[in-house]
This record gives sequence, C-alpha cells and structure tokens, in this order.
Amino acid sequence: MPELPEVQTVLDTLSLQIKDAKIKDIKILFEKIIEDDPDLFKQKLTGQHFRAFKRRGKYLLFEMDDLTLVCHLRMEGKFFIFDGEGITSKHDHVIFYLDDGRSLHYNDVRKFGRMYLTEKKQRYVKFRDLGPEPFWNSFNKQYCKNYLSRRQTPIKEVLLDQSFVAGIGNIYADEILFASRINPLEKACRLNDDQIAKIIRNTRTILNKAIAAGGTTIRSYTSSLGVTGLFQMSLQAHDQKKCPRCKKDIVKIRVGGRGTYYCPRCQKLKKKIAVSGSIGSGKSMVCAHLRERGFDVFDCDETNRRLLEPGEKGYLAIEKAFPMCFEDGKLDKKKLSSIVFENEEEKKKLEGIMHPLILEKMFERKDDPLFAEVPLLFEANWDIYFDETLLVVTDETLLLERLVLRGLSKEEAIARLKNQMSVAEKIKRADKIIYNNGSLEDLYKLVDDWLEDILCWEKTFTKLK
Ligand SMILES: [Zn+2]
Repeated sequence: MPELPEVQTVLDTLSLQIKDAKIKDIKILFEKIIEDDPDLFKQKLTGQHFRAFKRRGKYLLFEMDDLTLVCHLRMEGKFFIFDGEGITSKHDHVIFYLDDGRSLHYNDVRKFGRMYLTEKKQRYVKFRDLGPEPFWNSFNKQYCKNYLSRRQTPIKEVLLDQSFVAGIGNIYADEILFASRINPLEKACRLNDDQIAKIIRNTRTILNKAIAAGGTTIRSYTSSLGVTGLFQMSLQAHDQKKCPRCKKDIVKIRVGGRGTYYCPRCQKLKKKIAVSGSIGSGKSMVCAHLRERGFDVFDCDETNRRLLEPGEKGYLAIEKAFPMCFEDGKLDKKKLSSIVFENEEEKKKLEGIMHPLILEKMFERKDDPLFAEVPLLFEANWDIYFDETLLVVTDETLLLERLVLRGLSKEEAIARLKNQMSVAEKIKRADKIIYNNGSLEDLYKLVDDWLEDILCWEKTFTKLK
C-alpha cells in the first residue's frame, strides 16, 4: 500500500509530466472508483487543467482550474502516462485524454482506489478525521503527549491511525519504531517524553529520506510512471531478516492484524514487574537474586521509610493529618502504627497519603524492566500498576518455622499470617507463582527460568517466518 513517500513520489512525477495539461475527455471503465455521479465527474472535469499537485496524508490532490480532484490509491492504485491513447489494460479504470494527445490511465488491480471532486475551497469531508501532517508544526511533543496518553493500544497501531498523524503506513511505522528503539507492542500511553521526541524526529527523518529515494518498492507496491523507489535498500527492520544493529534475528509478529517486524533485543518492551509474597516467604531472597543478576529492584518498604524521615514529603503530610502522633515536633511511628492498626478509617487515610508518594517515586525510575518488591501488592490493589506479578509462596508450616527462627513466638507468627490476605486469594490474582519449599539453589533456578520467560520476548510470540 502506498504511504506518504510513495504518494509524494507519484505527485512529484505527475507534476513534472502533466502540469498545465488540459483534460479533453474522460473514459470511466469502472464506475465505483468515482465516489460521486460519474457523468457529473466527467462533465465537470472536461476542459480543466492540472494546475497544482498537493498531498494530504495519503490523498493526492490535483488542483484544477476551479475544482480539486481528490484521489486515494488505497492498496494498489497507479497512474500511467501514454503518448496517444495508449494500451488499455483490463485494470485501467479511468482514462483521462489530454488535449496534447497524451493520456493518463488510472490502473488498479484491486479496485479499492477512489476519486472525488470538491470545490476548491471546500475541504474533502474525510479530511476532518485526518491528524496533522508529520512535517507540520502541530505534530509536536505536546500534541503527541496528549494524544498518546489517552490510548491504551500498542504504539504500532496508533502510528497507523490516520487521525493521529497522516500518511504513515505499515512499512514506515516499523522503521520509525526500530529507529526509536521502541517495541511495537508498547502501550501508547506509556511512552515517556524522550520516546515521544524520538518518534517525532525519526518520523520526519525517515519519511524525508524515503521521499528523496522515491519511496519504497516492495511486493505490495511497484513502480508507476517508470519511477522505481529505492528506499527498500535502506529499510532496517521491515521485511528484513537480521537486525543491522545487533546482527540477531528480526522477528515478525502481528500487531492489530498487521505483519510487524522488529528486533526483540533492540526494541525491548518496557515492563513493570512486581514481586510479592507473605512475610517470610522468601520474596526478599528473590529480590536479592534479581539484584545479583544486575537488575535494580525498587523497594516499597524502604521508600516508605525514607519518605517518613523528617522534612520529607510523607513526614510533612502526616504532620498535618495525624498531629496526635507528633511529640516535641517528632513523629512517633509506634503511635502511628497502633492508631492505623486499630482503625480501618485511619488506615485508609494513611494509605491515601503514602501510596501516591511511593508510586510517584516508583514511576520516576527509568529502569526497563522495572522490578519492585511490593509486600502488600494485592491488599493495596497495586497489581493494576504492573504488567507482571510474581508471588513467592511457602508452605505454612515452613513459614511458621522461619518466623519463629526470626524470633517471633508461634502465636505471634500465626497472628501475623492471619492478618494478611489469604494465600489462595493471592494465587488467583498473581501472573506467576514460585513455590519456595526447597533449597536456595532451587529458588534461584526457578527465578532464572521465570526471568527468561518474561524477558525473552521472541519466545513469547509465534514467529510467522
Ligand atoms: Zn537488534
């Protein structure tokens, strides 16, 4: 399907050849190509000159003397110019006879292309749904940020959506994402400022280069007017086998029904992964192992502690909300704990202060993937903030033994465990369960397998090639 660079190439070529040519007569062989009355179309255009050649998204705009001929090539529409009447192929659907003796043939194997006439100043009704052109100033960071923040769909799908930006199709969307090192499946709303800036920059660079190369000539769209686009030689990801950056395999998957090429290593999916588990279950050992593997793990408890240090945001907010917990200007944490332990409403109030602050700190992190140790993941309904949740589970008898080893009495240990959400409920909600009933080596092995599973993306999706 011709995209912006191919449409621009067709227009540039036509402009060189038929600018100011006059239409003497028109033959319409397949009437459905013309969106309005074919007789009227013929009547209105006869005697008109091709004055200017403009583009809006993937639409071709032929400005005539007092009309605009709007044309969309859709899948395979092409124009050919002949000296004389030329040879009419069975795929020629509209023929414009020019008064200099030449003829312009509209050829379309799939018959999906459309033509439409508008008065010069009137906007084609379908342009209302078109987003800005990639080269317009209105296609800027603020616009993209606003638009993308409302979209939960993969960024690849949004790039193809003509109401976001006009003119990008399947080939260039793959190229733009590859150049920006963004995974095509990344949710649009999760792109950060830096990634948005990259998309804008790479969109312009790649489209400009493709226009300069005369567009891309691949299976689905071949040359018309004798112009063979050469951008296929510069493609980095689309329809490629090896990644030019890391030399590993390019993978083909489907995103929104479209064949999508990307490098799983250079275009990693940004992931937020939570590790949780009951007290004593071994989640801290899992996190220690993750750190050993080179991942930074965001620690919610530690962050909470730091936010409660004098002068910090949490400390200041609690000073206002729980003045009774302050003595000599100092926070009495034990008093605060006992107040919220006994009163559900007070507990909610404290959480209402601390949770947004902890989340804010977590989302500030640029780690990709981002791991977080979240003890009360399900109790606090924080699982919604993560793409993957891991629950570390230990048999209750083993758990009690461990807690007693930590210095708790058996009764205290049972009370601690009873106070938490049931393990069965957590198991229902977690994406992955690791049972920690064996040795430390067993635990590490399970964690490594899980890491491979969630971080090796090429395994997750079926290869189409
Ligand atoms: Zn790569």
